[in-house]
Amino acid sequence: MGRSSGALSLFDHHVHSDRSDGSVSLADRARSVSVRPHGVSDHYPWRDKLRSEDDVRRYIDDAERLGLRVGLEYDLGVAPPLRAETRKALHYVIGAIHRLEVDGVWFQFDDAGAFLKGRTKVFTDAARFRDERLSPRIRERILEVVRAGIERDRIDILGHATMSPLAAAADPESAYPAEWQERLIRLCVEADVAIEINESYNVPHREFLERASALGARFSVGTDTHGAIGPLDRTLAMIKGARLDEARFLDGRRVRAGV
Ligand SMILES: [Zn+2]
Ligand SMILES: [Zn+2]
Repeated sequence: MGRSSGALSLFDHHVHSDRSDGSVSLADRARSVSVRPHGVSDHYPWRDKLRSEDDVRRYIDDAERLGLRVGLEYDLGVAPPLRAETRKALHYVIGAIHRLEVDGVWFQFDDAGAFLKGRTKVFTDAARFRDERLSPRIRERILEVVRAGIERDRIDILGHATMSPLAAAADPESAYPAEWQERLIRLCVEADVAIEINESYNVPHREFLERASALGARFSVGTDTHGAIGPLDRTLAMIKGARLDEARFLDGRRVRAGV
């Protein structure tokens, strides 16, 4: 029965609701669990909705009361540290980068993200992010920010790991040298942090996933949907393309030891 029966049981960790920028209520998310197993993982921090840890605690209580598994999309490099008890109350924490500070300059990832999602046809800043002085600095900063997320914030999943202006500006294999990819993967493997297969951004690319698999990584499915629970077309193609073992995927619970 193999792959198709396995695909049906893949747990989708990365799902937004109207508690951050999604359009679906927690109550409706609780109903769509019957379509496919999934949790909720809203952005933290998020404007006037998830501003503080008290808001996070209310979010956890409300979602759990509806029977949902509750995660958070923790904004790496931006979000304030979570208290240990709040982290413990979450089923898992996804850490993801959406903007990055490099030598005093902030780079937003929104335009690159829209391009990788296929919402825009052209990434207008491409030339800037092919710059041979800037791109290695961005790569180093990504590693630093991910390391802090793993060590200080104790994330369980690295969300859309290679989504950045570098990936929008060039082929991912030239944007990210193999040696850099392996450093990023090793940070995750050594801490037992899962690497997300992101349906919306279609990342990471096949070679990255093959390297991760060879180095013994865990993986996690994340559609990153902000609306309806849709198909896992890109996810299944990525799993198949890199021959990933579905036994290495998280099932809605953290596996990292310690608190
Ligand atoms: Zn994100
Ligand atoms: Zn997201």
